[in-house]
Amino acid sequence: MDTLVMKEEQGQVVYEKSGAILREGGLVAFPTETVYGLGGNALDKSASQKIYTAKGRPSDNPLIVHICNEEMMLPLVAYIPEKAKLLMDSFWPGPLTLIFKKTEFVPYETTGGLDTVAIRFPSHICARKIIECAGVPIAAPSANVSGRPSPTMADHVVEDMNGRIDMIVDGGSVGIGVESTIVDVSGELPMILRPGSITKEMIEQVIGSVKMDEAITKKVSDTVAPKAPGMKYRHYAPKAPLTIVSGNEELVASKILDIIKEKKEENQMVGIICTNQTKSFYTEKKDDLNNMVIKVIGDKQDSKQIAHNLYHVLRAFDSENVSIIVSEHISTGILKDAIENRLMKAAGHKIIYV
Ligand code: AMP
Ligand code: MG
Repeated sequence: MDTLVMKEEQGQVVYEKSGAILREGGLVAFPTETVYGLGGNALDKSASQKIYTAKGRPSDNPLIVHICNEEMMLPLVAYIPEKAKLLMDSFWPGPLTLIFKKTEFVPYETTGGLDTVAIRFPSHICARKIIECAGVPIAAPSANVSGRPSPTMADHVVEDMNGRIDMIVDGGSVGIGVESTIVDVSGELPMILRPGSITKEMIEQVIGSVKMDEAITKKVSDTVAPKAPGMKYRHYAPKAPLTIVSGNEELVASKILDIIKEKKEENQMVGIICTNQTKSFYTEKKDDLNNMVIKVIGDKQDSKQIAHNLYHVLRAFDSENVSIIVSEHISTGILKDAIENRLMKAAGHKIIYV
């Protein structure tokens, strides 16, 4: 059966309908300022299990618990460290997730078996109203099938979740386009577990020096347990394999053109991810090399625009007949850590240096 889709602009009826489904243990996908979330009652283990089933997500990959005011988290966390308070005052509501020691109220089904819980207070009005109507904290991972790019518009959620969940709230295209920054404040030293639009520099201005988890930049082997268990899985990936080419702009373009030539001999189409500034390297060869599909991810200098378009571009290749995708390495601007991290994971860390 098709999943019910309702438009966010209908307002209160949508919030109340969503809240009622969530209270009864059902699943509702809704927009947030980062990406679309797939919500279920965080205190109901069977709702959390339904989330893992709908996403096809490994059950050791914990869920982020969403709240609509700070009081809501008090029963869920053992204590709030001083540095966490400072971060909450500076960045909540907003795209920052904090990891705390959990209390017994939070089921292990929600935390993937961990003694810590991830908490986020979103700024998006629709997300907050839905949580408020539900009256319970809401576990809400990104509303994609596990391993696929996160959804940044309701159509993406329909593609992945139609028939698997109870309702989808269509709030149009989201603002930021990459998931929240995650900071673990449960140990001695605060540690960034996932980069996002709240950057390391912004965090350090508030609490001083923080570390980035090694797994952000390195491929984590299957045998070690990273701090954010999600890090060990291939993520954000389009259907065709993705390779990143890194180096000087012109050398990168020439390497990508070589790959296209090779693939032309094999009668294969190649997807290219480039910027407004580098697009012409490829378009000017289009007469000879007609086996390329070019997608511009944004302006080289505008990392917010690139983050906003990233998952949309990756998903858009799924409806093109490409056998591989090659992306220029994008590593400029304030969101560079977040963009690099998502692209590297989407590529399974396949990168060619030229
Ligand atoms: P998603 O909700 O799909 O954006 O993914 C949630 C991410 O948060 C995953 O990568 C998890 O590993 C991470 N996460 C959630 N809870 C915890 C926790 N208690 N400790 C460490 N990482 C967490
Ligand atoms: Mg996710």
